Amino acid sequence: MKYIDEYHDPKAIKHYVREIERVTTLEWTIMEVCGGQTHAIVKHGLDQLLPGKISLLHGPGCPVCVTSVELIDKAIEIASRENVIFCSFGDMLRVPGSNKDLFSVRALGGDVRIVYSPLDSLKIARENPDKEVVFFGIGFETTAPSTALTVYQAKRSGLENFSLLAAHVLIPPAIEAILSSERNTVRGFLAAGHVCTVAGYEEYETISAQYNVPIVVTGFEPLDILQGIYMTIAQLEDGKASVDNQYSRAVQREGNLEAQKMISRVFKVVDRKWRGLGKIADSGLGLSEAYAYYDAEKRFHLMDRSVEESSECISGLILQGIKKPHECPAFGTRCTPECPLGATMVSSEGACSAYHRYRKVERKVPKE
Ligand code: SF4
Repeated sequence: MKYIDEYHDPKAIKHYVREIERVTTLEWTIMEVCGGQTHAIVKHGLDQLLPGKISLLHGPGCPVCVTSVELIDKAIEIASRENVIFCSFGDMLRVPGSNKDLFSVRALGGDVRIVYSPLDSLKIARENPDKEVVFFGIGFETTAPSTALTVYQAKRSGLENFSLLAAHVLIPPAIEAILSSERNTVRGFLAAGHVCTVAGYEEYETISAQYNVPIVVTGFEPLDILQGIYMTIAQLEDGKASVDNQYSRAVQREGNLEAQKMISRVFKVVDRKWRGLGKIADSGLGLSEAYAYYDAEKRFHLMDRSVEESSECISGLILQGIKKPHECPAFGTRCTPECPLGATMVSSEGACSAYHRYRKVERKVPKE
């Protein structure tokens, strides 16, 4: 298959593994910030092909996983109301709030529907004029344009019974939060190719220069990832720190200007709380004043709240790259994809879900 098979070619993979071995002389820790890359690394055992001096950490690259408990609780509160049809991507339904999830709301009679595009919720709103239809907008820069377009179309068509619960987050401020942490051990980043397809990578140039870290925009196939790692290590070993673009077949430095225009037309940058990372300044997208009518938090008069995350679930440490999934005592026992305790086990892009699917045997039982 064009653009797939050549990125799984065993000869090319061996070549890059040898090149990585050749250039690596020191110990380096690299973080990918993309759930798709995490799954590809674990599924294909790419980390196990690398020299022992290289550690890969899985960062906050899954939007379902980083959505705060407070926002999940707000979603549950809205979805539980009688006159509401609550629309969401499927992954969000099993993410635990502070005491239940959206699936439980549905089981209790709430009208919670899975949609595959935010535009589906506009159709539902038109077909149900006597109901309030709410879309749960989650995702990074990648999905923000389609959510923005949905709200834009709602306004243009004068649709009044639609609103958005906005949970969109931005990757560069999260990378900065990780780099600013006293516990940070990451020396280089693989930036998510699809995010950069929309947002470009100019913003990463500032971060790379300020924190003296290489950042390599990287795709999702095994060869993409190995090449991204090679480009990162080559910079580190040369004492360089700049932004490279491994995913040039899809990403341009300026990104997709039309998509960016749609985002900035509808959204404004706001502070947002991330699961595991806490509140990060300017790291989220909320509706701008011109589209405030469509803000579900305002429409349903939701109050800000603060909720403690489960003490048993260490997904916060996993999202910061401090722990790996199999180091969690609940991994594969009290926490499984069928019965998840945390968001990183729920989402198909979550690190715990990837380890459970491909590395179940590696669970470490804590010593008594
Ligand atoms: S295995 Fe489950 S409880 Fe442990 S960190 Fe992952 S999601 Fe949380």
